[in-house]
Amino acid sequence: MVIGVSGIQGDFREHKMMIEKLGHEVLIVRTPEDLEKIDGLIIPGGESTTMIRIMKRVGLFDALKEKILQGLPVYGTCAGLIVLAKEIENYPQESLGVIDIKVMRNAYGRQVDSFEEYVEIKGFDKPFKAIFIRAPRVDEWGPEVEVLSTFEGHPIMLRQNNVLVTSFHPELTDDTRVHEYFLGMIKK
Ligand code: GLN
Repeated sequence: MVIGVSGIQGDFREHKMMIEKLGHEVLIVRTPEDLEKIDGLIIPGGESTTMIRIMKRVGLFDALKEKILQGLPVYGTCAGLIVLAKEIENYPQESLGVIDIKVMRNAYGRQVDSFEEYVEIKGFDKPFKAIFIRAPRVDEWGPEVEVLSTFEGHPIMLRQNNVLVTSFHPELTDDTRVHEYFLGMIKK
């Protein structure tokens, strides 16, 4: 399998290391042509407004949306979650809209910029250390969306068919389980 990691902006190197540790080849995706060479794609954390702006400029935005609608498995962390969401509540920004969630950007950012919390994830036998950095909060989600983990009453890991999102950053831990879960979505 070749796993694409969007190299437009953000902490893509950490995701690359995680996937390589799990024994798969990584392609850093920067052009629409790169999408033809991959079996799944990760959109990292970073700054969602910048990511969306550059994706549009290089022609990745529309090409990627089409690929995801055709079934390409995709996983977005933090800013990547925002890029994939249907609606951003507090910012007038077009997003890919491939997962039926409404999100509030930087919702955990005002009290404290970043924090860690051990959380339960559906199907995982032990808690997972979730690292939040100016994280988005999911406020609404549609009936097609499966909630895989929750923190303080809001979902923090969700899936709709071939689209997986977390508001936290597993790539900043040594725990590969969320990435393995995503790889499992590709094989099926
Ligand atoms: N606050 C960032 C945004 O709105 C996301 C933060 C992150 O990816 N760690 O894009």
